[in-house]
Amino acid sequence: MKPPRKLHIKSYGCQMNVYDAQRMVDTLARENFVETDRAEDADLVILNTCHIREKASEKVYSELGRMRLAKQARARDGRNMRIAVAGCVAQAEGEEIVRRAPVVDVVVGPQNYQNLPQLLARAERDGKAIETEFPAEDKFALLAQPRPAQIRARGISAFVTVQEGCDKFCTFCVVPYTRGAELSRPVVQIIDEAKRLADNGVRELTLIGQNVNAYHGEGPDGRNWPLGKLLHRLGEIPGLARLRYSTSHPRDVDDSLIAAHRDLPTLMPFVHLPVQSGSDRILSAMNRKHTVGDYLATIDRFRKARQDIAFSSDFIVGFPGESEQDFSATLALVMQIGYAAAYSFKYSPRPGTPAAEIEETVSAADMDERLVRLQQLIDSQQSAFNRAAIGTRVDVLFERAARNPGQIVGRTAYLQPAHVMASPEIIGQVLPVKIEGLKRYSLLGQLASSEFSRGNQPAASSVSIGA
Ligand code: SAM
Ligand code: SF4
Repeated sequence: MKPPRKLHIKSYGCQMNVYDAQRMVDTLARENFVETDRAEDADLVILNTCHIREKASEKVYSELGRMRLAKQARARDGRNMRIAVAGCVAQAEGEEIVRRAPVVDVVVGPQNYQNLPQLLARAERDGKAIETEFPAEDKFALLAQPRPAQIRARGISAFVTVQEGCDKFCTFCVVPYTRGAELSRPVVQIIDEAKRLADNGVRELTLIGQNVNAYHGEGPDGRNWPLGKLLHRLGEIPGLARLRYSTSHPRDVDDSLIAAHRDLPTLMPFVHLPVQSGSDRILSAMNRKHTVGDYLATIDRFRKARQDIAFSSDFIVGFPGESEQDFSATLALVMQIGYAAAYSFKYSPRPGTPAAEIEETVSAADMDERLVRLQQLIDSQQSAFNRAAIGTRVDVLFERAARNPGQIVGRTAYLQPAHVMASPEIIGQVLPVKIEGLKRYSLLGQLASSEFSRGNQPAASSVSIGA
């Protein structure tokens, strides 16, 4: 066995990258790499990048500047450091990365992580290795699964990628180019992975995909299963207390998904359903393939199936051609729906996308101003949603010790962090909590059953947040 080497991996962007980073760590563990938090100590640094907006994309080059200095410092001590760029910037820019940052040894696209060991060997032999193909092989079957101790170390909540890529081609988005065509993993592969996670202490599973409800993986019966059917099957796995999925496209909400929300108590009543804009004119220019009316009807179907359901969304402000009237329609839609949370972004033209060819019409100042107005509205809705929890009893899945001694933090069904004073034994359990107060975005409360409470619990208002 080779002596252990140290690996430092830094991920940017979406949950898919978090999952991919774990699979890369697991795959390199076979080569006797162990993870380190400190880049300076690493024999191999991987930057797992995001290309979705210009700002995210440019971060990689400033980080590479820092890595160059770290590599030089190690070289002075006679030690080597290999630098790899993975993720969607690697896919989109390929060789250009090495031209701009010659310090990079390996460039690897998201469809090629199973080949990381060979790519490292090639870089050692030839100086550089670049791979950004879309191979026919099933990368998920080839990537290593985590060892039981690794699963336990990662905590009680886990992601499983069930679907990758996108065929929707929204005009602003790079995903169809960086992640490729839509591909769903077979049901059996997902069930095996989920069982392994549950057997090793995972209590909450979030199924992820760029377009997760476009899922149509091959089932054990040889037919294509929709996401709702997959969720029903996962709901039978002992130990999994909570199921979630993200990110959904409004157009792919089918009856099986609605039925899953109606029938599955473990499926959390919180859906991330990005709408992007409240103007049909802009939705059409974005090629979103749905209207505001379609979106509202979809929200209605969810609400009829499960009354306590809440929503979050994504918005883009300042898309080319967005008038003040279009933007007002977005604000009106937000008012009409009432979100529990939402993300909003300034439009960022991405090279190679159709929207990047359209002349930008919204000035930087107007974009800033619209973003502030939208974020203020979303923030007020989120605060109202959180305030409504005060005085109620909510189920919390406890995740970990908070930074403040004696506090344990968990999440409600709506992903609100909730803090209580309690014994660490409650980690991994879903317990009722009486919510007594709020601090910023966190709920503060007391366990409704006294069994695990710590004695002399301070009043909720005096519990300070350390997480
Ligand atoms: N598949 C999801 C959907 O259809 O809504 C979204 C995936 S994307 C990774 C996450 C979010 O980034 C999008 O919902 C959108 O709001 C935002 N986004 C994507 N491209 C963008 C761009 N060019 N400029 C600004 N925001 C963008
Ligand atoms: Fe991008 Fe649109 Fe696909 Fe979402 S649905 S990943 S925004 S192209």
